Amino acid sequence: EMAEERGFVPFDAGNDYAPGSRVYYNEKNKALILAVIGRQGVKNGLHLIAAHIDSPRVDLKTTPLYEEAEMAYFKTHYYGSIRRYQWVTTPLAMHGRISLKSGTHLDFALGEKEGEPQFVITDLLPHLAKGLNPGPIDTVITGEMLNILIGSYPTAAGAETDPVKQKVLEILEKEYGIEEEDFLSAEICFVPACKASDIGFDRSMIGAYGQDDKICAYPAVAALTRLEVPENTTIVLLADKEEVGNGSVSGMDSAYIDYFMEDLCVMDKVNLRDVLRKSQALSADVSSGYDPAYRDCFDIHNVNRMNHGAIIQKYNGYNGKADTNDAGAEYLAEIRRILDSAGVLWQSGETGRIDLGGGRTLARCIANRNIDVVDIGVPVLSMHSTFETTSKLDIYMLYKALSAFMNTEIHVLY
Ligand code: MN
Ligand code: MN
Repeated sequence: EMAEERGFVPFDAGNDYAPGSRVYYNEKNKALILAVIGRQGVKNGLHLIAAHIDSPRVDLKTTPLYEEAEMAYFKTHYYGSIRRYQWVTTPLAMHGRISLKSGTHLDFALGEKEGEPQFVITDLLPHLAKGLNPGPIDTVITGEMLNILIGSYPTAAGAETDPVKQKVLEILEKEYGIEEEDFLSAEICFVPACKASDIGFDRSMIGAYGQDDKICAYPAVAALTRLEVPENTTIVLLADKEEVGNGSVSGMDSAYIDYFMEDLCVMDKVNLRDVLRKSQALSADVSSGYDPAYRDCFDIHNVNRMNHGAIIQKYNGYNGKADTNDAGAEYLAEIRRILDSAGVLWQSGETGRIDLGGGRTLARCIANRNIDVVDIGVPVLSMHSTFETTSKLDIYMLYKALSAFMNTEIHVLY
């Protein structure tokens, strides 16, 4: 909707587009490609900025509903890496879609508006927790314990078994026209039901769920929609399924991305492979912010600090850079030149101390297509939690950096 308001129209591969044309491609309502056609088209390479729009969350299993101790619950399977203990006793909202065999779809965003019901995963009272569950905090709550409480009142219909579950089913039938079996064709997730807010007396920070990676996706879209006529065709790709390894039809490993770029090449009568080789990309994704409460988890000489600007991260990965995109010297020099000439405040750190863990981004999926790419982002405190914290200055610097990148003409590096 935001793109359409700013003049983007659905991409039609058969059309000829003049420089400055704004197009989009919607990948099954889960991922989105936005593009502004450049003066040179794609023949000298294209600019690609990719960010992901999925976030760690709690998904429903396909047979979710059950009753125990006269209470009704949903079974879940968490999505992405979470610290499970953070998700208990957090008010949850229900989002997603249930598709019916009739071909109709029911979309949910329940628990976000004032007065709507919310949901919760319960926890043990401290009075009984003493001495129980010794050991690492991440082992206390297991995946199978993330069951969401959804009802406690029995049906009046006098069901023989599971009267509370029956009552929930009656409500689902009455209010949404769905029956238990319909959860077999559903994509329902539960997320923290809290609004974004300013953090601190100085209001310098933002607290919200899901900032990884919407805090990069939004500035990328904002920069692209303000772009006039770039030299090189510029693409912003909002990817799905990054938090689970970029698979599935809407993930970054899917061929829809290649086909879109190929259509642009056909339009300009050039080969895709020649265009990709000359293309330049930024993988816009968050990284860890240095947190002094956990100083032992960082190498103090290579941290990303709050309010020190956008992060350029040459590589990430784990166990000696495994599974990473390690950006080349020549390309990093080009990025330094672009950011410094635009007056962007930026820094270059690592996620954390070697061999503690690590992470991956979209960068590897881009590099696999023979496009030069490096990670850019902002530092986040409590990343992947139910309430992440970022700095407004860093996000603005990311916007400036992405905008400068889009406005720089690609020239030959090798
Ligand atoms: Mn993430
Ligand atoms: Mn991310």
